[in-house]
Amino acid sequence: DLVPVRRALLSVSDKTGLVEFAKALQELGVTLISTGGSAKAIAAAGITVTDVSDVTGFPEIMDGRVKTLHPAVHGGLLAVRDDPEHVEAMHAHGIEGIDLVVVNLYPFEEVRFSGGDYPSIVENIDIGGPAMVRASAKNHAYVAIVTDPGDYAAVLNALEMNTGSLSLDFRKKLAAKAFARTAAYDAAISGWFAEALDIEQPAWRAFGGKLEAVMRYGENPHQSAGFYINGDKRPGVATARQLQGKQLSYNNINDTDAAFELVGEFDPEASAAVAIIKHANPCGVGEAATLKEAYAKALACDPVSAFGGIVATNRTLDAEAAEDIVKTFTEVIIAPDATQEAQAIIAAKKNLRLLVTGGLPDPRTPGHVVKSVAGGLLVQSRDIAVVDGLELKVVTKRAPTEQELADLKFAFRVAKHVKSNAIVYVRDGATVGVGAGQMSRVDSSRIAARKALDAAEAAGHSEPLTKGSVVASDAFFPFADGLISAIEAGATAVIQPGGSMRDDEVIAAADAHGIAMVFTGVRHFRH
Ligand code: 5GP
Repeated sequence: DLVPVRRALLSVSDKTGLVEFAKALQELGVTLISTGGSAKAIAAAGITVTDVSDVTGFPEIMDGRVKTLHPAVHGGLLAVRDDPEHVEAMHAHGIEGIDLVVVNLYPFEEVRFSGGDYPSIVENIDIGGPAMVRASAKNHAYVAIVTDPGDYAAVLNALEMNTGSLSLDFRKKLAAKAFARTAAYDAAISGWFAEALDIEQPAWRAFGGKLEAVMRYGENPHQSAGFYINGDKRPGVATARQLQGKQLSYNNINDTDAAFELVGEFDPEASAAVAIIKHANPCGVGEAATLKEAYAKALACDPVSAFGGIVATNRTLDAEAAEDIVKTFTEVIIAPDATQEAQAIIAAKKNLRLLVTGGLPDPRTPGHVVKSVAGGLLVQSRDIAVVDGLELKVVTKRAPTEQELADLKFAFRVAKHVKSNAIVYVRDGATVGVGAGQMSRVDSSRIAARKALDAAEAAGHSEPLTKGSVVASDAFFPFADGLISAIEAGATAVIQPGGSMRDDEVIAAADAHGIAMVFTGVRHFRH
């Protein structure tokens, strides 16, 4: 299954390593054919190269839109070399086989992501390149297709080991990579169209990403990981500028995303908000007149968990807040921007990553969420429900006071970003207890209350901060027990979707304790 490489066609936009590769191929006795710019670069290095126009007998026309799209090229790529009819067609039409194809495509993704204008993005949709890549990859029984300059060394190595031939196994691997490349390329193009036309993004657009970074490992050290970006301009971890610190890890990126999406729920004109995230759950969220106060409130909720956390702010990070944040070991700070003074303070912590996004994500923007399951993918639209857009219904005898209502909304906003089952206690614009990810709602309620007790103890308060708090539940209370446990912790008002078969029972329990309860009609499961 070894096929000798006698004739190679090189046509590349990214000319990295091209000349060295061409030179090495020539030394191995390979005849080189090439297109305009690539041929020029190769010839300039004193290497003998045939222009593809001499092979096709046709000039490159229409600004290069048509250069290799010709039977003399595609016949040479697609011919089954041991099929007599194919061989006869080659003889009849003067077509010679091509054994090695080296193509990388017009830089569509780069032009698009660097904000190129419409005509230049369209011009960078490569047609002839993908055609050659796909033809060669299909005909991998005879042809080797190289789409990544990073593979030149491996190809030369293989050629040297097999005295000028490549194995079928190697050609198959190259073909697999080639089809992955054209698939990603076309997905990027369709994703751009959807964005340009402002139409519903195709769900599979998530896979049209560009590999932005390879991480040292995934969620655990024995897992590999990469970060793909898809061109979505949403302010956040993928589009942020990293001003300092080590490379972000897989878990950092996941947590930073959770943190920034959460603070995006808080209008920066109305208040300063800070979220501290650990393992994708908030361990504290605070809202105040300044980021410094908001951070203090967020930290007080669960100072033990905040160690090694991710901090997100909804306003430009200032020096006063930065000074306090660096006092606790923090992995990442993400903010719309950071003042020079704040940057200088953070610079003292070499490893601390600082990301600036230039804006806040709008929680109302539609999009998709993808999750993999055994044998497939689950795709759903993003949860874009926000509490301010919901019709809140008071279901108890007592209506919440103005302060309670403000805290209830705050609590429900946070609950949307807590893994289910989520129970969030809030008092005066700060979380005071968060119960996350439990299999029963009553457990989440108890854990949140327990955490509030711990925090109060640590702060030297005589009673838990849940006393006189409000509580949010991401989904309805199926029984009164979860609610009663919240009342026992000291909650005076409740916000929850409602809709349980036993709503009456739950409402009666609330009324019996003089609790105010509002139904949102919307659930915020998050898993
Ligand atoms: P060069 O710099 O050699 O002139 O052009 C190389 C680029 O042209 C490669 O990215 C290759 O994919 C692309 N290419 C090769 N043949 C054709 C063709 O017939 N039409 C178009 N649009 N692009 C081509």
